[in-house]
Amino acid sequence: MPVTIRDVKVICTAPEGINLLVVRVDTSEPGLYGLGCGTFAYRHLAVKLVVEEYLKPLLVGRDAESIEELWQLMNQNGYWRNGPIENNAIAGVDMALWDIKGKLAKMPLYQLFGGKVREAVAVYRHADGNNLDELCANIQKYVDLGVKTIRVQCGGYGGGGYSHAPVGTPANAPDGVYLDSRKYISQTVKMIEGVRERFGDTIGIVHDVHERIAPPDAVRLAKALEPFNLTFLEDPVQLEQTEYIKRIRECSSIPIAEGELFNNPYEWRNLIQERLIDYIRVHITQIGGITPARKLQLFAEQYGVRTAWHGPGDMSPLAHAANIHIDIAARNFGVQEWSGIEPPNFVIQELRANHGALLDVFPGLPEYKDGYVYPNDKPGLGVDIDEEEAKKYPCRNDVTTWTQTRNYDGSLVTP
Ligand code: MG
Repeated sequence: MPVTIRDVKVICTAPEGINLLVVRVDTSEPGLYGLGCGTFAYRHLAVKLVVEEYLKPLLVGRDAESIEELWQLMNQNGYWRNGPIENNAIAGVDMALWDIKGKLAKMPLYQLFGGKVREAVAVYRHADGNNLDELCANIQKYVDLGVKTIRVQCGGYGGGGYSHAPVGTPANAPDGVYLDSRKYISQTVKMIEGVRERFGDTIGIVHDVHERIAPPDAVRLAKALEPFNLTFLEDPVQLEQTEYIKRIRECSSIPIAEGELFNNPYEWRNLIQERLIDYIRVHITQIGGITPARKLQLFAEQYGVRTAWHGPGDMSPLAHAANIHIDIAARNFGVQEWSGIEPPNFVIQELRANHGALLDVFPGLPEYKDGYVYPNDKPGLGVDIDEEEAKKYPCRNDVTTWTQTRNYDGSLVTP
């Protein structure tokens, strides 16, 4: 008797003020269910609707073990494919089906991916500061926790918060997050030079451009940062301008990571085949879940491109766990972004206090220790949800402001 899908439902929760979306798939086996992440924090209601109104009627009664068949079925069912809303909806179901597969096999997911090739996953953390001293103090906190690679930024991604148009903009320029690329570029070079002077070669350094500067400026920045031995420069150009990465390659040996905005295999295929990037950095739910992420990881391995999956705060612990399961079994794993969630027994009480609500809602998060994250050995993803706790933190549907990024003439620039 095949195990069939009995119900598909969506749970939305925001324990840290960020909208998270979880898909729960229940099966014909009493008590057997799977959980997946379909978080698109800024469009969560649209993803919820796709899961409940379109995917659930498509899936109920089908064989829960046929993951590849069901992924393709979901992907082509709306005829148009590879959009972020649909991909997140599919990812939620896909991850839940892998969770069920692991529970049926009584194995953690990494075992189904071929087993461990390493004991734990090296992670990097984010340090920020308004000036070099503040930044270095924040880096030191992570160094003291054993973190070996740090993403360093001064003042976010080269802009302040959402506000009225600052001095120097045209009359009647709209509110927004205003960016000054020239200042950002010169400050970034000084900042990274300063960090290398203070810490020597004892830490790996990552810097995220967040695709906020014009492509020719990205070429210039990459060249200027070459002497500082970065682990990688992240998203130097917009996803629509990745041809410019060729120019960066021609004038600099700086390692490049790109891809957290990718949705469609066409966006990464050429970059990997031409070895124009060193790290592929997709957001696992934006590309449709574990099934396409595993294919991508194995594809990248053929070309010597390593993985550095996106691991920000706007994804749920289920997706973080999925990243870790893939990483632990991937020969071409590079480094994993880890966004500040530690398990309840973590030694630093300050950090525990900051993330207590998230951990109450999602018990079972992989454990951080001395710069590495260890998967737990529970079957499937190993992360559960406490639905009563989740209800305490309802999602909000506000107009998103941080993406309203603008040049100093008031025109929009990608965030
Ligand atoms: Mg990024």
